[in-house]
Amino acid sequence: MKIVYVDLDGVIADFEKGKENHPKSSITPYRGRPDKLPGIYKDLDPIEGAIESVNKLLKSKYKIYFLSTAPWDNPDAWTHKRLWIAKHFEEKLIRRRLILCHHKQLLMGDYLIDDRKWNGASEFTGEWIHFGSKRFPNWKSVLGYLSVK
Ligand SMILES: [Mg+2]
Repeated sequence: MKIVYVDLDGVIADFEKGKENHPKSSITPYRGRPDKLPGIYKDLDPIEGAIESVNKLLKSKYKIYFLSTAPWDNPDAWTHKRLWIAKHFEEKLIRRRLILCHHKQLLMGDYLIDDRKWNGASEFTGEWIHFGSKRFPNWKSVLGYLSVK
């Protein structure tokens, strides 16, 4: 079974929108460090088409894991990411499928769907599906590439 890692922020969770709507986003010390905003990861809206698409992946021929980085200096974020996936997906499909780390290049697998090159994404030894790029602008293009209907 081929392994697909799915990033959270900017791929299935709308961090940009959450950041803009957060009441403390323009206050020191959060200005420029939105990853430190209290509770920022807890109630993010899903990105358009993401939940439906990941559900398709979860029921496909691929083995799916969520692979995200939680800020070291915002320990609540580690819990909130775990709760976020439980809120949006069926427990039986996602149980124990969350990996939080700063070194995505260390994970073995076939595909990594990620919107940014940081935290090892661009050095991933499988194939990096650069979400939001010209080639993969949205979930439709990703599912098409992975031949998931
Ligand atoms: Mg991301």
